[in-house]
Amino acid sequence: MGKIGRILRCAASVLTLLSISVSSFPIFAKAKIESDTKRMIALTFDDGPHGKYTDEILDILGEYGIKATFFVVGVCAEKYPQIIAREIAEGHEIGNHTYSHIHINGASDSVIAGEIDKTEQLIFESSGYSTTLFRPPEGVCNDTVRSVAKNMNYSLVLWTVDTRDWIPSSKESIINTVMSEVDGGEIILMHDYVAKNSNTPDALRVIIPKLLDMGYTFVTVSELIK
Ligand SMILES: [Zn+2]
Repeated sequence: MGKIGRILRCAASVLTLLSISVSSFPIFAKAKIESDTKRMIALTFDDGPHGKYTDEILDILGEYGIKATFFVVGVCAEKYPQIIAREIAEGHEIGNHTYSHIHINGASDSVIAGEIDKTEQLIFESSGYSTTLFRPPEGVCNDTVRSVAKNMNYSLVLWTVDTRDWIPSSKESIINTVMSEVDGGEIILMHDYVAKNSNTPDALRVIIPKLLDMGYTFVTVSELIK
């Protein structure tokens, strides 16, 4: 399957490269057409905050002075409000990833809206930050998800490179996936919450300096898609 095919998990037939317009509603899944995004990469971390790995990842990002985007889950935001506050204080972006990492296929619009709303409130209470980015769990963006997101003024954000780090993949596998698929304008999917031991921080310590040496700039999702 080609790169675009892997990326676009939407049931919709979507799709052009950058912002995909479905009934005038943008779904940002592939962000590499503008020449000025050619050397930009957005690292994204899903499912956190995690009591250990998120701080570790924030430390690494801080060492290199780069910004990333965290798609947080409400149950974790509730448990670690101080990490949400740290993410914002250090200049990172936060997106909404539902309250309970809900299995979204088949969920009603009111259930999905409730999941988004509860998480939105938790993010705001922790950091004073209001997000307009929504990444549905597992990248599922059916008609109901699109409709709810649109009504709540959220942009749907998927990814272009899936590191499959949640499995967890080995450090080498994560590094190889990123280095073989990145050529600018990418949204890279990683996880700061992994149920087992995570190799993501160790992989980042290799990936970030390599890509910086190659001339890439790390930006938030909003910076990439604007
Ligand atoms: Zn997730």
